[in-house]
Amino acid sequence: MEKCLTKKYGYAWDKYDNEDLKKVFDLGERYKAFMSECKTERECVEEMISQAKAKGYKDLNEIIKENRKIMPGDKIYANNRDKALALFFIGTESMEKGLNILGAHVDSPRLDLKQNPLYEDTELAFLKTHYYGGIKKYQWVTTPMAIHGVVIKNNGEKVKIVIGEDEKDPVFGVSDLLIHLSAEQMAKKASEVIEGENLNIFAGSMPAKTDEKDAKEKVKLNVLNVLSEKYGICEEDFVSAEIEIVPAGKARDYGFDKSMIMAYGQDDRVCAYTSFEAMMKLTACSKTCVTLLVDKEEVGSMGATGMQSKFFENTVAEILHLSSEYSAVSISRTLSNSKMLSSDVTAAYDPSYASVMEKANSAYFGKGIVLCKYTGSKGKAGSNDANPEFIAELRSIFDKENVSWQTSELGKVDVGGGGTIAYILANYNMEVIDSGVALHNMHAPYEIASKADIYETMKAYYAFLLNA
Ligand code: MN
Ligand code: MN
Repeated sequence: MEKCLTKKYGYAWDKYDNEDLKKVFDLGERYKAFMSECKTERECVEEMISQAKAKGYKDLNEIIKENRKIMPGDKIYANNRDKALALFFIGTESMEKGLNILGAHVDSPRLDLKQNPLYEDTELAFLKTHYYGGIKKYQWVTTPMAIHGVVIKNNGEKVKIVIGEDEKDPVFGVSDLLIHLSAEQMAKKASEVIEGENLNIFAGSMPAKTDEKDAKEKVKLNVLNVLSEKYGICEEDFVSAEIEIVPAGKARDYGFDKSMIMAYGQDDRVCAYTSFEAMMKLTACSKTCVTLLVDKEEVGSMGATGMQSKFFENTVAEILHLSSEYSAVSISRTLSNSKMLSSDVTAAYDPSYASVMEKANSAYFGKGIVLCKYTGSKGKAGSNDANPEFIAELRSIFDKENVSWQTSELGKVDVGGGGTIAYILANYNMEVIDSGVALHNMHAPYEIASKADIYETMKAYYAFLLNA
């Protein structure tokens, strides 16, 4: 009889020789560079398009315009409003046999400016915000913040803004109360210590010099003068802007051994970036390979740039049409025969918070990509529960390609939960599983990931694209 012991999930670090370690740490450097530059969905999409173009990817809109036939080996990108991106590497097999899809999201929790944000109170200027995604609000005070975004002026001109990343730039922040006067605040529940309406960005304290005798709100006026001089924008322009307040500064190595990375927005750019790298590594494939990077996951995947949008389905239809494969049934066949790694971060076991984890079904730093059969909460509600036939195929691929992998669920039963984009793609009747990198501090201003996990995840994606 075949011996079948419980899989002993090993640490990826144990299998690395010096050459492997170099690859692990080199990927860490590329990833940190990306994370230091790309802190909004727009910045991610712009950077990835620029790198993809350098690898020979062509804009789908150009191909449509030229009505050029798509052939195996073609590399194509579809940009959805600068906030979501689909990359296609056309395989040699018919697309009706299904696509191999990597999916992740490029939006992250943050503070968004309100449409009418700027105000003055007691000779101090502030910007009102509305937080985006699930955050512990008390984590977002007294830490240096940067301003990233776009302002669209009424003539359509787009002004890009990044303030707080260059050493010479100012940074911003949300204030907190001094401990000396906090007796009342410290007695509050953590969810009420800092209230959403109080997440105001401190933006200035110096009055404008003006000859006007009865001038009011001179500090606010001074801020508006700076914005006008540096960016050519006026107060009304905030109405048509997307400005995100994010932690300032670069991604950093973490720990004496530099085995981890601390960065803002690793949920879910750690999966987005590793998916992208795996995609860029492809030189040929039999199944058509896709990397799909979407916006709005943190707020329910709604909107034109979220996963629930028809963008992806419409893009697949365009590609089938241009490859002369299009028929009334080709789109449904293509999608229902597809396989997907729906990638998002999960919780890594943290001994300091062991009470919410179930040790046998937790993810651990250094044990590789995590497969989550199901997510959801309270009886798996809202979960795409992956099919074991598909999981068997994946573990066979990963074992063959020497990828370190592990399984987990987010925490103990009924302690909490979460959702991803997995169920939305599964609606096309394709095989989908949640997978990705485990983090400490998820949704905090700075999240932590293991470099070994980042490397194994990229390897897993590459193996999936070629072998699924
Ligand atoms: Mn996520
Ligand atoms: Mn999240």
